[in-house]
Amino acid sequence: MTPPEPITVKVKTLTPIWTGDAQRETTYLKATSFVGNMRFWAEALLRSLGKEPSPCNITGTNKCKYDKAKGKTRVCSACSIFGCTGLARSFMLKLSGENGSYIKKSSMIKLECREGRDGKPPRYMGVAGFSGEFNLNIVPNTPSFQEGENRSIINAVLILMLRMGSLGARDQYGCGFVSAAALDNKWDGVISNLEFQEKDSDQIQTEHHPSLKDFFFFKAAASYKDHENPHEDISKKHLPFVIRHDTRKFLKFKTNIDTKVRHFFCGNMRGGRIGTKYNIGLANKTLYGWGWYPRKGRFSEYRDDCLNALMFELKRHSQNLKWKEFASKRDNCNSAKKWPEFLEELLTQTRDKLGEG
Ligand SMILES: [Zn+2]
Repeated sequence: MTPPEPITVKVKTLTPIWTGDAQRETTYLKATSFVGNMRFWAEALLRSLGKEPSPCNITGTNKCKYDKAKGKTRVCSACSIFGCTGLARSFMLKLSGENGSYIKKSSMIKLECREGRDGKPPRYMGVAGFSGEFNLNIVPNTPSFQEGENRSIINAVLILMLRMGSLGARDQYGCGFVSAAALDNKWDGVISNLEFQEKDSDQIQTEHHPSLKDFFFFKAAASYKDHENPHEDISKKHLPFVIRHDTRKFLKFKTNIDTKVRHFFCGNMRGGRIGTKYNIGLANKTLYGWGWYPRKGRFSEYRDDCLNALMFELKRHSQNLKWKEFASKRDNCNSAKKWPEFLEELLTQTRDKLGEG
């Protein structure tokens, strides 16, 4: 039997990719960080297809275990690709042809044009990491790579993550936005190999486990005019951070949503450390972004408040905002109304073409 062919993707950075180590430095690109990104997109995609969305990840007590000797060979659809106890990942992720440069450490960004909680300028971690290009290679490891639709799921995940999402960590600070081309047009017709199930997977969806149906994507031409300081433009490298700061402030002072909800959407460094639910990067005078906010779970009723606030602040800091979101009034990309068609649009688009044609 000939082994299945590897998938190779040529990746070019739009903003630096951060895969920092314990010393908080990025000195090389860590492939394992990208595997983590892939699993996140795969689970969201699988939920949107109506498949069981990796219940092992939800409770932590009910993790998938593969044990052939004991006849335990049934694992969730995410684990069948990414592996679990007793089962190897179905592929290896290898990087090659790295050609670029590193900013190893982030410098702190101070937003002098804004006032933080303590009356001082708000501070953020600056964008740093690897800039350049490289090949991302998915090398099949086990036969399960070829089983069922697994290969198509992996292709779809690569498209979503690389063309519409981001790579590595600190994407909430604008890192990891890339452009990507599959070598040999391997991405043609991915959608036709995906199976959609009628059953909705809502019951196992929580606020931490979104379906791809709950994602949003945006693109806009950056505008550096500052509504708070008409005499001074916002500096280019500060703009995404100003938008983040202003969105948080809008939710705090212009809505009556709970602090918990604000922290859920905007992130919180103190206490439990909550990741931000949206990412903004700036490259070539264009703001790119994506995020998610579940329609099910604890904070679902504030979804519109949060997304409207972000959209409002984006509009104040950009022009020609294109916003793509399934089953939403905010969508201004003439998106398809049914999920399979909407997903097909996502799988044939790039962040640069968002909302065009
Ligand atoms: Zn599992």
